[in-house]
Amino acid sequence: VDGRVVVIGGGFGGATAAKYIKRANPNVAVTLVEPNATFYTCPFSNLYLGGIREFEEIGHGYDELRNVYGVEVVHTLAEDIDPVAHRVQLANGTTLEYDKLVMSPGIDMRWNAIEGYDEAAAELAPHAWKAGAQTQILKRQLEAMPNGGLFVMVAPPNPYRCPPGPYERASMVAHYFKENKPDSKILILDPKDAFSKQGLFTDGWNQLYPGMIEWVGLSNDGRVVRVDAARREVETEFGTRHQASVLNVIPAQKAGWIADRAGVTDASGWVPVQARTFESQQVPDIYVIGDATVAAPMPKSGFCANSQAKVAAAAIVSALDGRSAPNPYFTNTCYSLIGPEYGVSVAAIYNLNTEGNIQAVAGAGGLSPSTGDASLRRAEAMNAHRWYDAICQDAWG
Ligand code: FAD
Repeated sequence: VDGRVVVIGGGFGGATAAKYIKRANPNVAVTLVEPNATFYTCPFSNLYLGGIREFEEIGHGYDELRNVYGVEVVHTLAEDIDPVAHRVQLANGTTLEYDKLVMSPGIDMRWNAIEGYDEAAAELAPHAWKAGAQTQILKRQLEAMPNGGLFVMVAPPNPYRCPPGPYERASMVAHYFKENKPDSKILILDPKDAFSKQGLFTDGWNQLYPGMIEWVGLSNDGRVVRVDAARREVETEFGTRHQASVLNVIPAQKAGWIADRAGVTDASGWVPVQARTFESQQVPDIYVIGDATVAAPMPKSGFCANSQAKVAAAAIVSALDGRSAPNPYFTNTCYSLIGPEYGVSVAAIYNLNTEGNIQAVAGAGGLSPSTGDASLRRAEAMNAHRWYDAICQDAWG
């Protein structure tokens, strides 16, 4: 054995890291700790809400990691970390020792950042910002809603998981309404004054769902300060109340709680990392990837988590072999579906600048053109499906 690696979290970052460490050196013993036997992806969970993907189509298991790559997969929670002794305490009572630890725990909600929005409230007014049971609650509520009802979404403040995600969700809910409940309306209350791909979304909404979606930003009293989940009512900063038929509250976020236990978070609630390796700036031998990290200008996306996982895997395999880490670069594309045949995207390549910080490579990315015609939007929608299949294949097989 050339070293022992424990990976916490079997999502986009963790599953990819486990696989790529084994691909680079099969003699490294890799244990993946993930409570769920099936991982449901947030990517395409909006398509499930829109009625264009089945729930089971966004679920992925760990057979390939186990059977093809020889990763030991343990379905339990990591409960505590001793960074000095290099040990992980699991909820099933066992302790794992590591030479290198990878953490990709994703996000947790900041409960009560909006008054009245806590874990119990999320059962009534789901966030659906972790895919699985939450997504299904939201879907059932949309299905039970009468034609002519109002879907209210409370959008999150920066930084949060998937910058275009709320607006893709509004689009997919609009698609569902157009097909099934055409008199219904959508209100997005936003604590920001601008959002990702805003011009492209607004154009798409005007074309596909004229008059159905209203977006209210910060300057127009878009910030919600109180939620009454039982009544599905929200109150804004300046006292306006909105009553919803279905209420989707996406609160402020922070790194998954296990990152706190490891001592890798800072005052922001997120994890500062060394850009070259994604090793924690605060604790040696712990590599943190994905949404939990501070990696701006990279967004918190599944594609970024996957890209960072490969960089961390290469750095870990190199370090275990006494070599220095290769010079990294990263990729990201975020596709959003506005309609089933109407896709838009934003893409970027990143490398390190002379100070060693992550920067977007000039001229190497960009947005879908605002002047794109129907055939381009259709091609991007097809590419979104291909992207999903490819990245899930890459992470879970
Ligand atoms: P996750 O994928 O969430 O994985 C974290 C894993 O860690 C989970 O499986 C969890 O069970 C596990 N875990 C947590 N704590 C512990 C613990 N203590 N012990 C063991 N395991 C633990 N990204 C894109 O690139 N493209 C998209 O189109 C896209 N669409 C999205 C749409 C929506 C609606 C949302 C909400 C997000 C979307 N994203 C998209 C973002 C994407 O889902 C995240 O960026 C991605 O999941 C981050 O990967 P991660 O590994 O950091 O976290």
